[in-house]
Amino acid sequence: MANKRFYDQLGRPLRDLRISVTDRCNFRCSYCMPSEIFDKDFMFLPRNEVLSFEEITKLATLFVEGAGIEKIRITGGEPLVRKDLVKLIRMLSKIEGIKDIAMTTNGALLKKHALELKDAGLQRVTISLDSLNDERFRKINGRNVGVDQILEGIEAAKNVGLQVKINMVVQRGLNHEDIVPMVRYFKDTDIILRFIEFMDVGNSNGWKLDQVVSKKEIFDRINKEFPIEPIKPNYEGEVATRFGFKDNDNEIGIISSVTDAFCSNCQRARLSADGKLVTCLFASEGHDLRDLLRSGASDDQLLERIASIWTARTDRYSEERLLHTDKKQIRKIEMSHIGG
Ligand code: SAM
Ligand code: SF4
Ligand code: SF4
Repeated sequence: MANKRFYDQLGRPLRDLRISVTDRCNFRCSYCMPSEIFDKDFMFLPRNEVLSFEEITKLATLFVEGAGIEKIRITGGEPLVRKDLVKLIRMLSKIEGIKDIAMTTNGALLKKHALELKDAGLQRVTISLDSLNDERFRKINGRNVGVDQILEGIEAAKNVGLQVKINMVVQRGLNHEDIVPMVRYFKDTDIILRFIEFMDVGNSNGWKLDQVVSKKEIFDRINKEFPIEPIKPNYEGEVATRFGFKDNDNEIGIISSVTDAFCSNCQRARLSADGKLVTCLFASEGHDLRDLLRSGASDDQLLERIASIWTARTDRYSEERLLHTDKKQIRKIEMSHIGG
């Protein structure tokens, strides 16, 4: 199989792959899967439509061996609600040429699984935590899960030697007052905290521009209490803008998809739980790979399909977002299908 880099219509290489392993979740975060919509009648994907571990591994192998991908991130929904996830991590870590396997999780089940995940080959974990205020956190996650359970997950991940980052989605009126307390809590640890501007992903979270706390405001709020300064990106295409503390070696990151879009550097493909290749977080639909895979297509045929999807890509939604706001709402894939 020829290994070559694919470039899209705007000259962006395909470098990262995010794999969503389930569209289900044990949380109902108000900004992602609000409980009024994702209720007991909500139709999640039926089992047979979800890729098996063998199918995921097969596609991941093609991305690594045929398209030069070195980093894979497992996400969801909540990846840890997928049964035997550790088995998938073990399978992926055996792919020749893979350098980095990471996972994004809400952390609720992490304490139980941290050690086996690390042993299976997981290297890094990003844990979502939107507040240290217990009452607020219980409300945000919609399942009455307390902060302590997540802090225990973070602790367990650290203890087994996983690299840990924390993601906090900031929404005005919901948790913007928690920015500084979060920095205070994590500043003197070796955990990097990243703030994410509230995004208009999916069709369910009732997004409004005035609920977005901008990168500038996040910076100002932190800088007032704990002086920080810009530092260089670790690599080209890094989505978070990095800021270092002036009085220690730790740093924070801000992911500013709304107020300072980074589409020109976007090198990420997403594979949904039902095997669709999605070329933008805000896409209306994905490109099916599952049926081709299940029809017995050869590796070369599958790789050709992946190449043709990526090379046709023109997505730059965040750079065009504000042009869309007065127009009719564009239908988008839900975040819980593609995992951020
Ligand atoms: N369930 C896992 C978790 O919460 O970490 C993984 C999937 S979740 C969809 C991935 C990331 O997307 C999380 O860090 C979450 O906070 C973020 N996210 C979800 N909805 C968002 C929104 N509307 N705006 C910004 N980030 C969002
Ligand atoms: Fe679940 Fe993650 Fe979405 Fe929260 S952000 S509802 S934990 S998928
Ligand atoms: Fe990439 Fe789409 Fe986000 Fe732009 S809007 S950075 S193209 S995922």
